[in-house]
Amino acid sequence: MNAIEQQVCKTEGCDKKASLQCPTCKKLEIAGSYFCSQECFRKSWATHKSDHVVDNPKRTYDPFPSYPYTGTLRPVYPLTPKRHVPADIPRPDYAERSDGMSIQERTYGNAQMSSVSGEDLETMRRVCRLGREVLDIAARAIKVGVTTDEIDRVVHEATVARKAYPSPLNYYNFPKSVCTSVNEVVCHGIPDQRKLEDGDILNIDISLYKDGFHADLNKTYFVGNVSEESKKLVKTTRECLQKAIDICKPGTKYRELGAQIEKHARANGFSVVRTYCGHGVGKMFHSAPNVPHYASNRAIGVMKPGHVFTIEPMINAGSYDDQTWRDGWTAVTVDGKRSAQFEHVVLITETGHEILTRRLPDSPPSQLA
Ligand SMILES: [Zn+2]
Ligand SMILES: [Zn+2]
Repeated sequence: MNAIEQQVCKTEGCDKKASLQCPTCKKLEIAGSYFCSQECFRKSWATHKSDHVVDNPKRTYDPFPSYPYTGTLRPVYPLTPKRHVPADIPRPDYAERSDGMSIQERTYGNAQMSSVSGEDLETMRRVCRLGREVLDIAARAIKVGVTTDEIDRVVHEATVARKAYPSPLNYYNFPKSVCTSVNEVVCHGIPDQRKLEDGDILNIDISLYKDGFHADLNKTYFVGNVSEESKKLVKTTRECLQKAIDICKPGTKYRELGAQIEKHARANGFSVVRTYCGHGVGKMFHSAPNVPHYASNRAIGVMKPGHVFTIEPMINAGSYDDQTWRDGWTAVTVDGKRSAQFEHVVLITETGHEILTRRLPDSPPSQLA
């Protein structure tokens, strides 16, 4: 049977048979949208054209309908096109590669401890401060009904306005300029057309590259009214990060951080993700040291003045285990329960540490107070 012969004109009040499909709908692969005549098409245009808007629910779809999702969250496609970075902004080595691979990281990442001094330290401080500014701008855009793609747009524009490159963009082909991880997403969520809902928790993970250095920080935010259980999870996660930072000083072993984090997570009935770790950051997006967040790990290395690395514990309400969506990025909890994360860049100083991504005087007030 020919589907076209069965169509009825979409114009209100007209029920004639229709075989003319709206050419824009056809291009955008929107089903239906047939009209009986050019005249009816013209008459309907004023109302019909909103069907073409990218976040119109009629246009969106789940790209992996047969995937056994662990929770209630779904990807909402289509993703918007890759955003443009002006040509005058210097890029990291993976930005223009078709596979998004960082040759620098592949060659030196495991061997070279990220360490800065002198002018490089000043640059790293400045770039981390810019990262914080962008995170704060993104935070101000959070609202019920806003899509994570809109957060991505805000982050992208704030980043390029600072003549910086958004580090996630094309990193191993990641399609967007920021990671947005909602509810059961552990990390690496891809901004899409899903609207933030009242009661969601949202992690925004900012990284940017400027003057040869990467900054990397993240924070989990409440959207509207969040349950007490979720508040406790987010608050505990923030405390876990702080407890790890508190012992950072010359002589501390990297493997000691996990014990601080796991002890506090467990005491509150939560678990620590094992798949993803903190990392050295600076000239490379990810390098040595490797910084596991769980206890009894075998991380190598001792903190020395000049070392710069992230601590970014992901704490789960249920099982610590994660799995990845078919997009190859989105890590979710296996039981669909929620996960929270906080990340800072820490510099080891002669006497202790400095948090390079710390709050600024005008940062939005903490939601955890
Ligand atoms: Zn990050
Ligand atoms: Zn990181």
